[in-house]
Amino acid sequence: MQAGLQALMEMLAEIRLLDSVTAVLQWDQETGMPPAAGGLRARQLAWLSRRSHDIYTSHAFFNLLEKLVDMESGSAHDDAASAEQRRLLYLAWRRWKRHNALGAELVSRIAEHESRTQQAWTHLRPRNDYSTFAPLLREMLDLKRREAEAISLGPTLYDSLLDAFEPGMTASQLERIFATLAARLVPLIARILGSSRYRDDDPFLPGPYAENTQEALCREVLVAMGLDMQASRLARSAHPFTIGINPRDVRLTTRFNPGDFRPAFFAAVHEGGHALYEQGLKLEPYGSPLEEAASMGLHESQSRVWENQVARGRPFWNWFLPRLRRAFPQRLDGIDLDTALRGVNRVQPGLIRVEADEVTYTLHIIMRFELERDLVNGRLDVDELPEAWNARSEFYLKLRPPDDRDGVMQDVHWAFGGFGYFPSYALGNIYAAALLDRARRDLPDLDNSLAEGRLTVLTQWLRRHVHSRGSRLFGADLVADLTGAVVSAEPYLDYLETKYSQIYVTS
Ligand SMILES: [Zn+2]
Repeated sequence: MQAGLQALMEMLAEIRLLDSVTAVLQWDQETGMPPAAGGLRARQLAWLSRRSHDIYTSHAFFNLLEKLVDMESGSAHDDAASAEQRRLLYLAWRRWKRHNALGAELVSRIAEHESRTQQAWTHLRPRNDYSTFAPLLREMLDLKRREAEAISLGPTLYDSLLDAFEPGMTASQLERIFATLAARLVPLIARILGSSRYRDDDPFLPGPYAENTQEALCREVLVAMGLDMQASRLARSAHPFTIGINPRDVRLTTRFNPGDFRPAFFAAVHEGGHALYEQGLKLEPYGSPLEEAASMGLHESQSRVWENQVARGRPFWNWFLPRLRRAFPQRLDGIDLDTALRGVNRVQPGLIRVEADEVTYTLHIIMRFELERDLVNGRLDVDELPEAWNARSEFYLKLRPPDDRDGVMQDVHWAFGGFGYFPSYALGNIYAAALLDRARRDLPDLDNSLAEGRLTVLTQWLRRHVHSRGSRLFGADLVADLTGAVVSAEPYLDYLETKYSQIYVTS
């Protein structure tokens, strides 16, 4: 078995190298590439993704894998294989299954249609033109339904697509979790908005907030979080993101608004959480599927635990507010701790997901989940989608979009075929709350540490219990293993209710 496993690892390392080259090109595309280079860049990226698809679908890969695992279930033939080896083989088998299910024709049609639909969305959204977008979206949906049929990793077509982002999670589990969330979030929002202490004004003065001072603050917090700046780089882009080329080369971006320091700061902290996770994965053995993020939802939990639970919390602001005031004395001299906390925890239902606050955010996800599940499972037609969107927006957010631009066309995800992606955002919040509950049990002094700026106390806990475990368990299983309970929305709801009753006294 050892020789076969060694040969398989060499092929996996080659695939990882191809993926890392892709990541460098993607970073360049988002941060520095001249606009005219776009055409050839698309060909370079498509060529690289075909090379790794070719390896997964090669006879050599099949022959090696077949000797090591049962090709129906992915379980190891060798009874003497260790638990780590079994898991590694199972993960390699899952990838083989995904790539081999699709076939070259479907892979290239999806890739081509993704880029066409995404480009169309870019110019059709500002024009509020859903009727031109609809046929493209319908074809995207048909292709993804074909993909789901081919993969067949769950009871419904939607489950097969969800599995690409959140392996092991099912739509029916999500339905249960989301029902609990909606049942408590909707009344919580009503209590906050109805509270006599509720104010929707912004306590922070508008800018100018000098960009270089904003950037220095972002760097200071990233260093305090424990990000290794020798193995990362902070740049700027229109949409902040993080890309892990390998654990020794993790890059993140933020964007600056001279009128408000918050967008750059919270984006940097959010991306910093993603970047810490990427830096905490093991570099060796290179290419091992064990040393990868456990799921998209778990990745998102690493950003949200920092952005929301830490950096919008009272202990952190004890430490951070004096620094912020020193950085912008004319703007923020009069701000005290309670006012600052109100300023970074404003609750205001709105139409746009990416602008949503921590409390209303998950409702945006629930409605997207319900719509994409129904689209993929054939219970909702693309022509009915705008009205279904507006109806759900009224139901959950009590707001009706005035047009499709700020309604059904606001997100790019469906245009690039990312059906099954949205739930990761909500799971990120849920996992983050559960993980932090467990961390507090291990670290009873955590809030005092955060209040003194010793943020790496949390980083070290996450390193040990989350990052270094890679994909040995998938997201929900890893959280369940750490907390001793099946993943549920309760810790997240308890956290929100406690925090916002302190800010707004809503009981
Ligand atoms: Zn994120």
